[in-house]
Amino acid sequence: MHTETLAIHAGRLIDPTTQAVTSPIVLSTTFRHAPDGTLYSPYLYTRYDNPNRAALEQCLAELEGAYQGIAFASGMAAAMAVFHTVLKPGDHVLIPEDCYFTIRRLLREIYAVWGIEYSLVDMTSSDAVRAALRPTTRLVWIESPSNPRLLLTDIAAVAEIARSVSAYCVADNTWATPLLQRPLELGCDAVIHSTTKYIAGHSDVLGGIVLVREEGRLYERLRTYQHVAGPVPSPFDSWLVLRSISTLPQRMKVHCDNALRLAEFLSSHPKVDKVHYPGLRKNPFYALATRQMKGFGGMLSFEVHGGYEAAIAVCERTQVITCATSLGAVESLIEHRASIEGADSPTPQGLLRMSVGLENYTDLQDDIAQALDAAP
Ligand SMILES: *Cc1c(COP(=O)(O)O)cnc(C)c1O
Repeated sequence: MHTETLAIHAGRLIDPTTQAVTSPIVLSTTFRHAPDGTLYSPYLYTRYDNPNRAALEQCLAELEGAYQGIAFASGMAAAMAVFHTVLKPGDHVLIPEDCYFTIRRLLREIYAVWGIEYSLVDMTSSDAVRAALRPTTRLVWIESPSNPRLLLTDIAAVAEIARSVSAYCVADNTWATPLLQRPLELGCDAVIHSTTKYIAGHSDVLGGIVLVREEGRLYERLRTYQHVAGPVPSPFDSWLVLRSISTLPQRMKVHCDNALRLAEFLSSHPKVDKVHYPGLRKNPFYALATRQMKGFGGMLSFEVHGGYEAAIAVCERTQVITCATSLGAVESLIEHRASIEGADSPTPQGLLRMSVGLENYTDLQDDIAQALDAAP
């Protein structure tokens, strides 16, 4: 079946007792079993498994072409599940220089005390990845497109490098979604998503998932971590995310269309020095994007002429586009990333990141145009 159909039908069952077409939310934390422990259903206790979580995991596994999905309470909980599962003290991790900044914080503020080392690498270059490997490198973490500069990594090439030294290769596919990019087919061992973003798509629920390519030790360890450590999503959160997936393929089309048009408009604007969007023909990643992605996505960033002051002035003046963090939802958001990332942020001071929403395109262009016109 095609992705639009899977998004609506995968993981869904007509409820056998009520014939409800939309699955009921099963809030019960515990499920009746026989006195000798034999289960009457697939369920025992909601930390181990729950019908709403199982349905979400099955749907995303089918969309991503994965063996199984293991759902978590947030994207960071999903990332942490991977780190906890594959790393031990003394191991080394490669992460991209341009990376979701909380991944950097996780390594610096949480894992450093456990003796786990990491290097920030320019993942746009396979040579840089090869040069950063150590005998202890156990995990290569890819984020493509990257946050916030929309740099692309050649996923197949980096996965091959990781395989050549028996390191795991895991891709954060949050910005692309399974609709636009399928890293497991390009050789990654697992993919993570912050389902908080495009997959849920309405800025009203947090979630995360790890999707693994095949049966085996990595899958077993992740499932055990989920059951034993317990950072699981609630039945209601699982239900909300699954409900939203029904419209994900259609939402992604509009996100991509609106973002490409806005990127083209911004590239010819006199107050904009630079636009970061892989769908622009002059973008250095255009050829790679057409090869490894099915669409260029709904995220872009641009550098306003005049640096910090000019960028802040634009954020102050947008009316349709809200100044807020996060991304991937129906409404457009804009943000001065360097302010959010803090003192050690490598992000340029004039850079604004935009999550292009599903509003009418002309309204978005008019809004950004009037905000830029008013900037110093
Ligand atoms: C938001 C985000 C995360 C973290 O997800 P949460 O759901 O906020 O925990 C990880 N990676 C990327 C690329 C993100 O955008």
